[in-house]
Amino acid sequence: MNLKVRLVVLGLLLACSGRAGIAWAVNADARLAPIQSGLDYHSFANIEQFRITHLELNLRVDFPHTVLFGAVALEIKRLDPRATELVLDTRDLDIRDVSERATDVLGATSKSETTWVSRPFHFEKADPILGSPLVIELPPSKRTTHLIKIEYVTSPGASALQWLTEKQNPDRHHPLMYTLSEPIGTRSWIPLQDTPRARLTYSAHIHTSSDVLAVMSAKNDPKAKRNGDYSFVMPDAIPPYLIALAVGDLRFKETGPRTGVYAERSLISAAAKEFADAESLLRAGEKILGPYPGSRYDILVLPPSFPVGGMENPRLSFVSPTIITGDKSPLGVIAHEVAHSWPGDLVSSASWRDLWLSEGFAGYLQSRIVEEVYGERRDAMDRVLGLQALRDELASRKPEDQVLAIDLRDRDPGLAFNDVVYEKGRLLFVFLDARFGRERFDAFMREYFDQFAGNSISTEQFLAYLKTNLLDRYPNIVSADEVRQWVLAPGIPADAVLPAADALEAVDEARGRWQGGKLPAKKLDTRDWLTPQWQYFLDHMPKTLHSEQLADLDQAFALTRSSNALVTRSWLMLVIRNGYSPSIARLEEYLRTIGRSKLITPLYQELMKTPAGATLAKRVFALARPGYHPQTVAALDPIVNPAHEGQDDE
Ligand SMILES: [Zn+2]
Repeated sequence: MNLKVRLVVLGLLLACSGRAGIAWAVNADARLAPIQSGLDYHSFANIEQFRITHLELNLRVDFPHTVLFGAVALEIKRLDPRATELVLDTRDLDIRDVSERATDVLGATSKSETTWVSRPFHFEKADPILGSPLVIELPPSKRTTHLIKIEYVTSPGASALQWLTEKQNPDRHHPLMYTLSEPIGTRSWIPLQDTPRARLTYSAHIHTSSDVLAVMSAKNDPKAKRNGDYSFVMPDAIPPYLIALAVGDLRFKETGPRTGVYAERSLISAAAKEFADAESLLRAGEKILGPYPGSRYDILVLPPSFPVGGMENPRLSFVSPTIITGDKSPLGVIAHEVAHSWPGDLVSSASWRDLWLSEGFAGYLQSRIVEEVYGERRDAMDRVLGLQALRDELASRKPEDQVLAIDLRDRDPGLAFNDVVYEKGRLLFVFLDARFGRERFDAFMREYFDQFAGNSISTEQFLAYLKTNLLDRYPNIVSADEVRQWVLAPGIPADAVLPAADALEAVDEARGRWQGGKLPAKKLDTRDWLTPQWQYFLDHMPKTLHSEQLADLDQAFALTRSSNALVTRSWLMLVIRNGYSPSIARLEEYLRTIGRSKLITPLYQELMKTPAGATLAKRVFALARPGYHPQTVAALDPIVNPAHEGQDDE
């Protein structure tokens, strides 16, 4: 519905401006004013006047009605004595009551602690992307803190929440819910200042039925009693998008002294086996950057509908089961989430324009960790695939969207999550490492994370710090202007340090021999191939193959039956392109069970290229939709139903 509203607005703008491209017309208008560094254009919160420092959640998880309800207490610092209104971000929240406590601080034990004063509140006009600003009236005051309690109920369509019933998975005997809030979904389940600049600590009481377990991005006790009443404390100040919750029939298995895995019963053994190296990955990160900032590092494996590979929720990464392949090769995802303990969680980006700082840095550190634990070759394979993805992404983007610090004003900040930000960002840090040498660059990184620990910083703050502490300290190696080009100019800079192409040479050779008809597929020596090699083998097949060739591949490698979601995706691209009917049923099953955007979006896009494919895509999407996270639905809607929803979201 939001997209429809937006389409009307876009249509009006288009009519007025007379420009050709819809998205361009809007952005050109928005971009007339210079962008303000570090300003978050995706929050209504007046953080210069009030700042939330801590929140306490008290929520009941209502599976039958698919809502969370209860209250949040916000501990707020008043920065401006004359301010009269507190503005919070919300989306689809039903606010029942707002009150203020007469005393200042949570946990006060004086008699006045039960005195609550009702505060008037109202919503300002809703924005289709940003939600509805909630305005709470607070008379001017000399007091320095406020404690505000908001009673509320979430909506069943809350954009950050996914609810899975027992029926959606035959193996599931209990329902399951989880949050995925990045970038601006937290406001759909907690009214707060939803900007990464407003870091806060939190505590929470989560009430459920006694047959399920709740876990959060906080201190989790692996031995917690399953009694339906769970308490959490997050002592580190984090950006709101990192507040995370999952509730389900979760089991725990230890994998190391500080590490363990949570998952539903059907997945727990495979997950614990696949992620047994978590402790080694953590130690590799510590070797580069010093002690891990948290006490434990656990992994929560969610059902296949989880929309992303992994989410770096502090102390408890949420991951997709599609990274369980049996050969540990997608552990780059875990290395990436471990790396985020420093860039992302400890030092965050101030706004979504600055996301490249978190993601580029994490991508670079992911490489370093993988290299340390599994060797250079493994990392090189991953980087070759990453570079290919970057080149494909660049080819589909306008020059102004090929930059690291992308201007997202008036656009969905979800657009920042693309291979330009991730892979070009990673290349920038690889470049700095290569130019300055590892010893100098590692020393720089350690100082940087010390300096900004617990802060959210902008692109310009980073560039200034880099100039003083690396570029100027070792002059005539890289100029500030060169780095600015990396951040603000389109394309891949000519001096980028690209991954060694020979990492996958043997795969090219094998493909060439098969394609040339020299060897049938079953004679190819693929015994030692890992997931990235299979992906590369299939992804670089010619656009058109005969059905005999596809049958040869399928018979030799059992591709249609493969349980490796990454290899299957590459195979299904060939199936769609060539209309290979024996695998169409598998394609449908795949699209109906997996909700990871990166895997299914290209399949839907490929299907939409032909009328028959589009019919299949629409039919399967309609069936699969209730089982996808709202974020996946929002990404796919404009692709599968372009006539209804508009194409402005790319
Ligand atoms: Zn990341």
